Amino acid sequence: MFAEQTRVYAIPMRTKFRGITVREGLLLRGDAGWGEFCPFADYSDTESVPWLACAREAADIGWPAPVRDRVPVNATVPVVDPERAAEIVRASGCTTAKVKVADPRSTLGQDVDRVAAVRAALGPSGRVRVDANGAWDVDRAVAAITALDRAAGGLEYVEQPCRTIEELAAVRRRVDVPIAADESIRRAEDPLRVAVAGAADIAVLKVAPLGGVRRALAVAESAGLPCVVSSALETSVGIAAGLALAGALPELDYACGLGTLSLLTADAAVDPLHPVGGWLPVPRVAPEPDALPDADPRTRDRWLSRLARVTALSSRGA
Ligand SMILES: [Mg+2]
Repeated sequence: MFAEQTRVYAIPMRTKFRGITVREGLLLRGDAGWGEFCPFADYSDTESVPWLACAREAADIGWPAPVRDRVPVNATVPVVDPERAAEIVRASGCTTAKVKVADPRSTLGQDVDRVAAVRAALGPSGRVRVDANGAWDVDRAVAAITALDRAAGGLEYVEQPCRTIEELAAVRRRVDVPIAADESIRRAEDPLRVAVAGAADIAVLKVAPLGGVRRALAVAESAGLPCVVSSALETSVGIAAGLALAGALPELDYACGLGTLSLLTADAAVDPLHPVGGWLPVPRVAPEPDALPDADPRTRDRWLSRLARVTALSSRGA
């Protein structure tokens, strides 16, 4: 039943990121355009419901009108050696870089070296932020943030240093570097709790796990914090939804993590949303996925059955 309106992709990553080497997902077409449904493999059907809502919003309704026509983006530096980190930053044209830290494959010493190389590549006026993806406990976070802040000559912020809201609040009381909540915002039933608990200075919003542009705008309003919009490693079709959110936020004071297409070896769209000079345009609809390499039949079947299951779950009001 979905045959004519869906495309399934499987695109190798350039560097292993978030533990994955191949990014997979499904694109679906509705009256308003294309939407992307790409929950990670470890997400349950229930957790995938908002991802489908995001794809269906793009495909069936379209997005609210933006208040800006372009969005500044950051370069993303995975766990690579300092030379490669500097190359990534210089090639990006961005003035803000986000550096992955606290990864099992990297020591704090290596994180410090990578952050120092990124600062050198950006120059003194650039902004350096780091993302620990909740890997530290409170004491390790305080020590690491202090070392990384020194290596960076001042960090813009640290993203999700610890896992829980309580730990974030404890770290925030002990360091001067601003704290951004990412996973905590996505998993909280009440995003307001993050702000009320004094756990974060900044909210990271991802449009797919939050259920689309309109729901993410509501989350931003209830969180009452400055926001950064980040991707979930989508193709240009899903990145466009993130840009629609970044374009519609009343305030946008930080570069967004939407310049992530370069982490994939290919894209679904003819005109990929690669940043130019550190900026991306805010599109009114997602780009057409004509250049998409088709996934093999087994991958396609797996995604079509996932779509059918999550669609059924969504219509039951999950
Ligand atoms: Mg993050």
